[in-house]
Amino acid sequence: MENVVIIGSGPSAHTAAIYTARANLNPLLFEGMMAGGIAAGGQLTTTTEVGNFPGFPEGITGLELMLKMREQSLKYGARIQTSTVDKIDTSHKPFQVFSEGIATQTKTIIIATGAIAKRLRIKGEDNFWQRGISACAVCDGGLPIFRNKPLAVIGGGDTAIEEATYLTKFASKVYLIVRRDVLRASKVMQKKLEENPKIEILWHSNALEALGENSLEKLVVRNNKTNEEKTLEVRGLFYAIGHAPNTIFLDGQIDLDESGYIKTIPGTTQTNVKGVFACGDVQDKIYRQAITAAGSGCMAALEVERYLTEQK
Ligand code: FAD
Ligand code: NDP
Repeated sequence: MENVVIIGSGPSAHTAAIYTARANLNPLLFEGMMAGGIAAGGQLTTTTEVGNFPGFPEGITGLELMLKMREQSLKYGARIQTSTVDKIDTSHKPFQVFSEGIATQTKTIIIATGAIAKRLRIKGEDNFWQRGISACAVCDGGLPIFRNKPLAVIGGGDTAIEEATYLTKFASKVYLIVRRDVLRASKVMQKKLEENPKIEILWHSNALEALGENSLEKLVVRNNKTNEEKTLEVRGLFYAIGHAPNTIFLDGQIDLDESGYIKTIPGTTQTNVKGVFACGDVQDKIYRQAITAAGSGCMAALEVERYLTEQK
């Protein structure tokens, strides 16, 4: 029987693996096989440079960073299984984790399956993905290609406002493209928006097509009330239309919030099931950064260690 099974392969999963391996818990990590459409290694494998993860002043690509984390997990003795977990059974102990028809029994589980940033899949998007189009302003907004240029954010929630506001530090102007005539965002965030003269809201608007040569140069937008189309001269487009956490395989066994994120006891990684812990973006819809995911992976590992000691 396993001491701990870790499900996932992003920064939170590998941090949990490194810590539990160094604590002699001999962790087994399921890294997934294109789980949720993303390669083992998680969301960072879908980006280019990661400039805000401490320790790499010269910069590092997302893929390289994840390969290094994987190497470090293996170095300390974590076992890595390249398959996706289809379901878990937490109704009795030991828990069971199922992957490719094989059941693994375990005393504890760390769920680190992350989330997927939603994309619109507009015409031209694939040509300019990570060459002007991004799903993370905090990650990419500071890049030189966006400096003093007009940019656009799509969405009307808290994330969209937070990202639009953040981008005004670098951009000459930010268009906020909202599909309805109301914002979903909280009143506090809406106030932040009203106070920022660099942001122009385009109500009732949908993005149609991304255009450019080597990187994004223009965005065609249509007003869905009047059908009027206009072309915005923007060098950056940021999606802030929500994320989908990878929690469907849990099949109702772990408490989720209204958006499908795992609920954890504040200040901990404990779920409603004792012995099952969650870390990273699968339980965090606010910060969503590699470093915060790694931090919560560390917390999950320490909590597993404490839990197993208490059970002895
Ligand atoms: P994730 O990275 O979400 O990975 C989880 C992975 O687990 C999944 O992708 C999948 O491979 C695997 N998995 C899922 N389900 C299962 C299953 N059932 N069984 C087995 N395996 C499974 N953050 C930064 O700090 N700096 C940046 O520069 C930055 N750039 C970004 C650029 C882009 C385009 C995106 C989308 C995000 C970026 N982020 C960045 C955010 C960062 O990638 C995430 O916050 C971080 O990766 C979350 O880590 P995580 O451990 O929660 O797991
Ligand atoms: P939300 O789901 O709250 O908002 C998504 C936004 O994107 C909505 O305005 C939605 O429009 C729009 N949208 C969705 N799909 C499309 C589409 N296909 N085309 C155009 N627009 C689309 O996601 P967020 O990421 O903003 O927030 C998630 C959670 O995290 C929320 O609970 C939020 O409060 C929280 N959060 C809190 C923060 C904070 O307190 N600082 C910061 C960031 C997030 P519509 O309204 O029409 O559905």
